[in-house]
Amino acid sequence: MKHTFPALPLARRYAALPPRFYTAVPSTPLPEPQLVVFNTALADELNLASDAVAQAALTDFLAGNSALAGYPQLASVYSGHQFGVWAGQLGDGRALLVAEIDTPTGIRELQLKGAGFTPYSRMGDGRAVLRSSIREYLASEAMHALGIPTTRALALVASPQPVWRETRETAAVVTRVAASFLRFGHFEHFYYRGEFDAVAELADFAIAHYYPECAAADQPYLALLDGVIERTAELIARWQAVGFCHGVMNSDNMSLLGLTLDYGPYGFIDGFDAHHICNHSDETGRYAYDQQPAIALWNLHCYAQTLLKLITKEEALDALRRFQPLFEDAFAEQLRGKLGLLAWQEDDWTLFTDLLALMQAAHTDWTIFWRQLARQHEDATLRDLFLDRDAFDAWLLRYRARLANEDRPHGERIAAMNAVNPRIVLRNHLAETAIRAAEAGDYTALHRLASALSRPFDDAPEYDDYAALPPDWASQLSVSCSS
Ligand code: AMP
Ligand code: MG
Repeated sequence: MKHTFPALPLARRYAALPPRFYTAVPSTPLPEPQLVVFNTALADELNLASDAVAQAALTDFLAGNSALAGYPQLASVYSGHQFGVWAGQLGDGRALLVAEIDTPTGIRELQLKGAGFTPYSRMGDGRAVLRSSIREYLASEAMHALGIPTTRALALVASPQPVWRETRETAAVVTRVAASFLRFGHFEHFYYRGEFDAVAELADFAIAHYYPECAAADQPYLALLDGVIERTAELIARWQAVGFCHGVMNSDNMSLLGLTLDYGPYGFIDGFDAHHICNHSDETGRYAYDQQPAIALWNLHCYAQTLLKLITKEEALDALRRFQPLFEDAFAEQLRGKLGLLAWQEDDWTLFTDLLALMQAAHTDWTIFWRQLARQHEDATLRDLFLDRDAFDAWLLRYRARLANEDRPHGERIAAMNAVNPRIVLRNHLAETAIRAAEAGDYTALHRLASALSRPFDDAPEYDDYAALPPDWASQLSVSCSS
């Protein structure tokens, strides 16, 4: 039996923590809510009814216009390092935890992003604009379909309510879903206030619910740090492989569960540039594509610091030293798949970095190249993606020799490569086109794009336009922290 609002199978896990971790605050009503997108596939996974009647019944709740009788609305408190600088208290300034529900795959938290003022709103208005909400919705589900750990998006509710950013925009609310929205910043908050008992309580909470294997370890807190390091290394390897740039890798945007979290000025790389900066506000390129692994490690140092009353500094540093090899192994595994190899060999790093240099020089389209590489044996146009075609031909000969080593049938290799090298990613211009239409009241493009992104590895001819090279205007697009 599917559950229908308001009869949801509620749980209290985060809400059972003591009040020092959050503030109960009601959502601010949103006028004339319109359920623009509802993720029926995710609803099914959560065992929620997803038919039209169920959706209508949910709309007010997802807009923040009604609350569940059996669950409070909570804004959690966290701090963090932003752009390398301690920023002090931040917290859920516009997101509210509105339910924890029991699902076939475990307890899931439902969070409304853009649900109004909280005690942590600081200078903000507690709202999110339609533009950024569409970007969050699409990216969450695109990443999920790509097999990359992420928070999910269940719904997008729009409203005519004006919201001021650089210009007048309108408000929207995204329903985010995750096992937990815990961030490195939650731990930092209490550590820097000297409330070490709260750090221990959060660590115990995290171990009990998200890292249960750590409970049996000799040193559970050290095992927790190891676990967070492992999941983060795996996550960043997947980002790098697909060409995803987060844009704002502040420690408050780093998930304790190793999920991609807080989609703002993110971007998928079009033409390859290792130094690509997707966030217009990131003037120094702190969060550039090639910086992401090092920044993840920097953030992990911030996280490890918060555990220093529970583990020793030497233990923390030893654990952190494992990040680089873990990342390299995870990245090699990604590259093995992308190159269609059966096993990774040490020499393959050279094969890869030589390719990267050619791609850098030509700004070769990251997604198209990898997808097309699968058919290199019968595709004479692959070399056209490069400036120095002779150099690419030479590289291709080395690659073919490498493939010949493994004696894998073409058909099998192509299928394996097509299962890991997506044909469609959420390029900025695709999101932008859907946003412009949505802002004019037409959601058709948004729905069509969401469908295409849910099956990024398919050779679906009806989505050929999404798989094409970006138009010239795409390179002029800029996205910033304003959302
Ligand atoms: P972000 O840059 O989105 O990761 O947000 C950093 C901090 O600013 C978090 O504490 C957010 O809750 C808060 N914040 C961002 N935008 C708003 C807004 N419009 N209203 C209130 N708080 C916001
Ligand atoms: Mg954030």
